[in-house]
Amino acid sequence: VRETIILDQPAINRALTRIAHEILERNKGTDDVALVGVVRGGDHLARCLQQRIQDIEGVEIPLGSLDITMYRDDLASRGSLPVEKTDLLFPLENKRIVLVDDVLFTGRTIRAAMDALMDIGRPRSIQLAILVDRGHRELPIRPDYIGRNVPTSVSEKIVVQFNDENNPTEVRVAKP
Ligand code: 5GP
Ligand code: MG
Repeated sequence: VRETIILDQPAINRALTRIAHEILERNKGTDDVALVGVVRGGDHLARCLQQRIQDIEGVEIPLGSLDITMYRDDLASRGSLPVEKTDLLFPLENKRIVLVDDVLFTGRTIRAAMDALMDIGRPRSIQLAILVDRGHRELPIRPDYIGRNVPTSVSEKIVVQFNDENNPTEVRVAKP
């Protein structure tokens, strides 16, 4: 396996700070904005974005997470629980939800996350923030906020490394 670094820690930090500003600009501030990270990876990035938004605006916006690994329509057996684990301790009603994940690939995970959110409540809107968009979409889903577009072959993998404090430290592309 050959690995190439595509984002180092300063580059990841700049991308997250930019995305935090973009979220605030697009939503004209923090009113009704809430972050929902997709476990695992997206939950850590959502927490990083919450911290940045607090640094910029002085407001702690609601943060939750969804674990929908078994809800991917190509993995789940019929009748299985739609949501493996949720940590959504705020009402979704009228919220502008920003879904956060580390890597966007086929789009099936995000579709499942949107289904889960719609089952739980009635958000006003759902937006999507992604650290790495590696292409190969199989559904009409596109991110609103992108750290980096990384065209990959299907056999390549994106490695998002986190440290012991669950802060992202490096993004690499692994070629088989
Ligand atoms: P999708 O459902 O869009 O096919 O895949 C996205 C989900 O699978 C995300 O939650 C992401 O964490 C994971 N994923 C897909 N491809 C990769 C990859 O190359 N690297 C990493 N780290 N995660 C991936
Ligand atoms: Mg993930």
